[in-house]
Amino acid sequence: MTKSILIHHCDIVNEPAVIQKNGFVLIEDGLITRTGSMTEDRPVCEGDVIDGSGKLLIPGLINAHNHSPMTLFRGMADDLQLDDWLHNHIFPAEAAHVSEDMVYWCSKLAAAEMLLSGTTCVADGYFLCDHTARAFAETGLRAIVAHGVVDFPAPGVADPDQNIATVESFIHRWKEKSKLITPAVFAHSPYTCSPQTLKQAKQLADDNGVRFFIHLAESKNEHQAIISPAGDSPLRHLHNLELLDSNCVLVHAIWLDDEDLDILQQSKANVVLCPQSNFKLASGISRATDLARNGFKVGLGTDGCASNNSLDMFLEMDLLAKSQKAFQYDPTVFPAEKVIEAATTTNNTILGYTTQVNIRPGSRADLVLIDQKSPHLTPFYNQDLLVYAVRGSDVDTVIVAGEIVVNHKMLTTIDLEETKSKVNEYAVHLGGL
Ligand SMILES: [Zn+2]
Repeated sequence: MTKSILIHHCDIVNEPAVIQKNGFVLIEDGLITRTGSMTEDRPVCEGDVIDGSGKLLIPGLINAHNHSPMTLFRGMADDLQLDDWLHNHIFPAEAAHVSEDMVYWCSKLAAAEMLLSGTTCVADGYFLCDHTARAFAETGLRAIVAHGVVDFPAPGVADPDQNIATVESFIHRWKEKSKLITPAVFAHSPYTCSPQTLKQAKQLADDNGVRFFIHLAESKNEHQAIISPAGDSPLRHLHNLELLDSNCVLVHAIWLDDEDLDILQQSKANVVLCPQSNFKLASGISRATDLARNGFKVGLGTDGCASNNSLDMFLEMDLLAKSQKAFQYDPTVFPAEKVIEAATTTNNTILGYTTQVNIRPGSRADLVLIDQKSPHLTPFYNQDLLVYAVRGSDVDTVIVAGEIVVNHKMLTTIDLEETKSKVNEYAVHLGGL
């Protein structure tokens, strides 16, 4: 039986810089099947009917980089150098407190935060990923779940010699298991993975037709550590290992010299920026404007909320635009429509989805309704406000794959009180409460 949803009398962002007033969208079996104007056409729907009056319908936002179980570590260690934060706080806390149940409940809490703030799809990277995938599948969040690879013992991978085999079995378990979950490979970084491990991890991804993610060129220290022994920048290190291609997703990619930019653009590798995390850890500002001048499109993610400390993609869009303007002393770079494109269609392509995320017939029904009636959204001239004024708390209703997962700010698939209670129990064990 066809499952249908009609959203009527809503304003619709269906083209860059164009808002269609008083329109409707009909959803059937997870796809948008019709759009139009309420003044010309009034469709009939026997399923759910949503009154979109006073609301703006946008494509669901995609968060192209996150570590969802790290919701437990948000606020645990702030205002530290990246190396200190990672090696003296995060890695020890993970070694002591990450478990299957912790990953499940903390991933579910992250899913709640993302769905409530208008993110309908995420690319996540962590360990014990069966439990993140299970949590996401239950919540109705669309996700790429990339299993971590490092050369030291990690949660669920006590013997680093088993790191590739562990990821391979995860991929096989989830390849066809859920219409919402796609497995992938996440090699943590060039400084936690040997060249051999990096090559094996990339080969595993290629052989299985899944994405390969890696943190790259995030900090000055990483840049100096890798450049000095071999004479290579982090990017040239990966280039020499023949890892850079369209199946490779580089996260951060801040410390790039001019030669790196040329190599990167010729390689067709993808780049995902995380400006909030980079600002908080003082990692630096990406050369995204230099890349964009040559037509290179960058994606956008929040990174884990221990280094952000938010999973709100509206905040991320705002900082991407403003950081590039300030860095270039040019307010015309990274205009709002390009930033929205980064968080929707560009991220969609980077993550390897073949279905579309715009609001047109045939596109998948991953949609967000924003309440336009708040003081800070009045008047609502154009979509620029999505970047510079809208916040996750303005999200009213969220649909993923044709299912209503947030209904008037209420989660329909997650018991939020139970989830918060479980995560707070872990926080007590960690000594944070
Ligand atoms: Zn990260």
